[in-house]
Formats: sequence, C-alpha cells, structure tokens
Amino acid sequence: MARIAFIGLGNMGGGMAANLAAKGHDVRAFDLSAAALDKAKAAGCTPEGSAAEAVYGADIVVSMLPAGTHVAGLYRDIVYGHSAPGTLLIDCSTIDVATAKALGAEAAAKGLVAVDAPVSGGIVAAAAGTLTFMVGGTAEGFARAKPILEAMGKAVIHAGDAGAGQTAKICNNMLLGAEMVATAEAFVLAQKLGLDPQRFFDIASVSSGQSWSMTSYCPLPGVGPETPADRGYEGGFAVALMLKDLRLAAEAAQGAGASTPMGKRALELYEDFAAKGQGGLDFSAIIKALD
Ligand code: NAD
Repeated sequence: MARIAFIGLGNMGGGMAANLAAKGHDVRAFDLSAAALDKAKAAGCTPEGSAAEAVYGADIVVSMLPAGTHVAGLYRDIVYGHSAPGTLLIDCSTIDVATAKALGAEAAAKGLVAVDAPVSGGIVAAAAGTLTFMVGGTAEGFARAKPILEAMGKAVIHAGDAGAGQTAKICNNMLLGAEMVATAEAFVLAQKLGLDPQRFFDIASVSSGQSWSMTSYCPLPGVGPETPADRGYEGGFAVALMLKDLRLAAEAAQGAGASTPMGKRALELYEDFAAKGQGGLDFSAIIKALD
C-alpha cells in the first residue's frame, strides 16, 4: 500500500481521499478548510497541518483543487522542494491545458513523474468510487497511476502525453454544454409548435437527434428518466462548473487557433444564465433561459 499525500478535500477530493483510505492506503491529507480535514480524519485519513507536511515522505501526491493557479502553486512552492526523486504526482483537478503541459515538463525535469488525470462524474461518483479518469502523461506515469486511480473510479483511460487528460476533459464538456443547449432548444421549439414533449422524447430518443443530454439527462421535468430537472434542477452538475469548463475550452481553442462556434455560443448562454443568479442550478436548467 502506498503512502499518499492528498491535497484538496472539497466536494470531490473528500470522497476520493476516503476511498483511498478505505482501500488500505496511508493517506496524509491537507486542505485549507478545517472542516474538510475533520471529515477526512473521520474517513480514515491522517490530517496534516500543511501541504508540505503531507507531501514530505509521500510516494504519491494526489491533488483535487479548484484551478490551474492552485495546482501550479502547490507544485512550485511545495511539491518540487519536498518530494524525493521518482515521486508520482497525480493532479485530478480540472485545469487549463497550458498549465497541465507546463507542470508535466517541469516535474520531469526535476526527476518527478507527473500525470494530469481529470475526472468525469460528480460528487456522487467521487464518493462511490465510480469516477472516470482521463490521463495525460508518459506510459510509465500512466502505469503507476492506474492502480491508484482504480481505487477511486470505474474507468481509467490513457489519453496521451502531458495535458492530454485535460484536453479530453474540456473537449468532452464543451460537447456536453453545446449538446445540452441544443437538446433544450429542440424541446422548447417542439412544445411551442404544439408537440407533446413526451412524444418528442419517444421519437427523438430513437432517432438521429438522440444524445446523452436527451436520453440520460433530459432537461424537461417528467420526461425520460429521473434527472435534476425532476428535483427543481438541484444537485447534479452546477452551471458554474459547466461555465468553468466552457471557459477553459474557449481559452484552449484560442491558443490552438481552433474554430469552436458552438462551444462559444454555449459559453455565452451559460454566462448570461449565471449572471442572472442561476449558477448554483444544474446545467440542464439552461432550458429556462430559452423561453
Ligand atoms: P471544492 O471547492 O469543493 O474543493 C476544493 C478544495 O480545495 C476546497 O476544500 C479548498 O479549501 C481546497 N483548497 C483550495 N486551495 C487549496 C490549497 N492551496 N491547499 C489546500 N487546499 C486547498 O471543489 P470540487 O467540487 O471538489 O472540485 C475540485 C476540482 O474537481 C475542480 O477542479 C473541479 O473543476 C473538478 N470537478 C468537479 C466536479 C464536481 O461535480 N464538483 C466534477 C468534475 C470535476
């Protein structure tokens, strides 16, 4: 069993660290929040007083932080100076592709092995240990990270070199955001034209308009399987998090000179919706903005 430093014990990291501890790993946990540290302790982790104390002596450092600036700060201010050569760094946060690539190269130059391993799946999947991990890094990094990630997830896929995990994540979520808007507007149009939404669902879900946003996550209450729409758009994947991922996709598209008009339009619509105070709702609530 490995000695693992786990930094960032929020909504996602709390459940993930608990799963590592439950599988018998020696998890040294740190978060700026005392409440998060208490929860990690109750879940079998050892709380530490600082990130440096958690990292010192660890074989593996796992991070689950808000954004690239937090991960870069952790690596540059603490991890590089406190880790033994060969230490495996696994960042599971969703961060910008440029920072993920830069940290992969920096860590390698310092004799460390870094992978970016963002996740698909929300708080429920983090707690249940059923996340999907998309991993960027060397073959060695992937091989070493895989059993650790398997203790927290149901699927672990090697996407490519450093940054490829983040690339897969933002391309997937850009597609999801645009697809949800398109699904929502199709339901709105169908209804305005007098078509019963359940009939439209029955037809489109077995026709060429079918998508995950329709058949697994329908934005209309009472249609399709139970989704956040049936719970007043509470829970699920927040508009604010979708907005974060659409912004990361737009930034990466600009850097790569890629044209992503649908992703850009989805970003504008989610920005307007969040500005109206709806950032805490599930992202399928965007249908309310399309009337
Ligand atoms: P969160 O805000 O609940 O947790 C982040 C934690 O990091 C907080 O507890 C905070 O105190 C801690 N933190 C911040 N800076 C720190 C530092 N310097 N040192 C130690 N701890 C620090 O966020 P979350 O929902 O757990 O998301 C974490 C990451 O996972 C994000 O990158 C997010 O985009 C990604 N993600 C979230 C979801 C989701 O459904 N919540 C789904 C997929 C991916």
